[in-house]
Amino acid sequence: MTRAVYLDYNATAPVRPAAIKAMTEALEQCGNPSSVHRFGRLARRAVEEARERVAALVGARAAQVVFTSGGTEANNLALNGTGRERVIVSAVEHDSVFSAAADPEIIPVDGNGVIELGALERALARDSRRALVSVMLANNETGVIEPVAAAAELAHEFGALIHCDAVQGAGKMPVNMERLGVDLLSLSAHKYGGPKGIGALVVADHVAINPLLRGGGQERGRRAGTENVAGIVGFAAATDLATRDLDRFQGLARLRDGLESRLQELAPETTIFGAAAPRLPNTCCGTMPGVSSETQVMALDLAGVAVSAGAACSSGKVETSRVLRAMGAEEEVAGWAIRVSLGWDSRDEDVARFLAAWSELYAASRSRAADVSAA
Ligand code: PLP
Repeated sequence: MTRAVYLDYNATAPVRPAAIKAMTEALEQCGNPSSVHRFGRLARRAVEEARERVAALVGARAAQVVFTSGGTEANNLALNGTGRERVIVSAVEHDSVFSAAADPEIIPVDGNGVIELGALERALARDSRRALVSVMLANNETGVIEPVAAAAELAHEFGALIHCDAVQGAGKMPVNMERLGVDLLSLSAHKYGGPKGIGALVVADHVAINPLLRGGGQERGRRAGTENVAGIVGFAAATDLATRDLDRFQGLARLRDGLESRLQELAPETTIFGAAAPRLPNTCCGTMPGVSSETQVMALDLAGVAVSAGAACSSGKVETSRVLRAMGAEEEVAGWAIRVSLGWDSRDEDVARFLAAWSELYAASRSRAADVSAA
């Protein structure tokens, strides 16, 4: 049987073998990092060494890293743990930011999915209550990279704090928290080869965090609960490899750009979302005109190729992507979008398999459309 092709790295990346090995070894060690005996001390050492390595990914210090159960918790902690009276978010944030605060103010994006900095400035200027701004580093659906440093400058000008959801950007592009100028930054291990269920909120020294989870003094009182030692160790192992392979990751742009050129040849009327903005090198969000995202995802799956829909399915109802609609896409066009995302183990032949399956499906849909109009 031919190998199944996985092109859904933005949903989750395959776990790096070195992370699996490190986690297996950690699981074989008994010990609660809070225990004072030798077993506890060994577990504590593993956690603290991992903390250093995760901090290094974003140019932070170990003490600034709060381990969480993933990106969703990190985002919730950032938005609810800083006690700000106003929360301002971009229209293309992930749901874990978008839905974390009770009544966020939403800043629009342009047709490429880039936040309107003028609108952010006006929002900051019109209300003097203490605000928290949240702008993601890179969008999960389109790969579009946001002007976070510029947003941070504006936020600080108006005395606001700024949080960056770097879950899709970190491990895929160089990230330096100080250079970005952000006060809080979220990470998730499983987006770049670590295990699911572990992430971190990196917190600048001047920011006080009220824990969401209470009942223990772990993580310097910012997140109670016995640490996920194996997850943390796997997170660090994946972080080391992602850092080492950052240049190689940039090389995925060649594969992605080749894929997009071919889509445009096969279907000149295809839309590639965010193509005119800076983007992650691994992500393509494009349409197959006239064919719904779900049909494409299912047909490609039958052909052995895993991609994801540009639409979210909630309570059995498929809704078109909020992100694509915020970019001005018509409902119908947004409903034709799929996301292809590459990663550390992607190869030329994976893209070739995708293109073969995609063109077959598109040709079939064209000939059905021709039959219908001839009838
Ligand atoms: N933020 C972004 C941009 C994401 O893409 C995701 C995952 O899809 C998350 C946050 C949530 O991360 P996690 O799956 O670790 O909870």
